[in-house]
Amino acid sequence: MADDDYFRLLDRAKDVLPETIENHERFELPELDILQEGKITVLRNFIDVTDKVRRDPQHLLQFLLKELGTPGNIDGRRAVFKAKIAPQNIKEKIETYTETYVICSECGLPDTKMIREDRTLILECEACGARRSINVRKSAKPDSANVLREGDIIDLFVSDIGKKGDGIGKYLDYLVIVPGSSKGTSVRAKITNISAKTAFGQATTEASTR
Ligand SMILES: [Zn+2]
Repeated sequence: MADDDYFRLLDRAKDVLPETIENHERFELPELDILQEGKITVLRNFIDVTDKVRRDPQHLLQFLLKELGTPGNIDGRRAVFKAKIAPQNIKEKIETYTETYVICSECGLPDTKMIREDRTLILECEACGARRSINVRKSAKPDSANVLREGDIIDLFVSDIGKKGDGIGKYLDYLVIVPGSSKGTSVRAKITNISAKTAFGQATTEASTR
């Protein structure tokens, strides 16, 4: 086959398959049109963004308000933030949203939908069929960090003495009772029993686990 024929064929293939080629391009958000108006910041093409990622405008808005720590609302096709926010900051948050709630981690395409299964949010890709759970990054400590478990070894400051003469201290939001400990001292204790927000501990020399 002559080179000319080959290139002609290649051109024709491109004409026939524009969608395939387009699909392999990296997903890009629309250029954000952000305006500062005194103490408010307006994302003028907010709906263009939610159209592009195919998500409920309220869902993205609530995410942004929480992440940016500002009140705001949707006004027509615009999102209005009641604070002065750097455009770069808004862009980064929308990128985080897209990575978390939109982009398929397998094929990188945005052709996904969110499904709620039990209490888990699942991202399902319509392009490649991949599914993953949506892990929402929390700015606060995960709950498990605030929960005491049997077997935990903690360092407790004994701030009180109970009626039976046992030392009592506060740890997280638990009252921890350690028999034999003295008020005003620190004691290392192994948690042996937990009942609601009261825990019993035993003085120990083992290394702390928390
Ligand atoms: Zn995919």
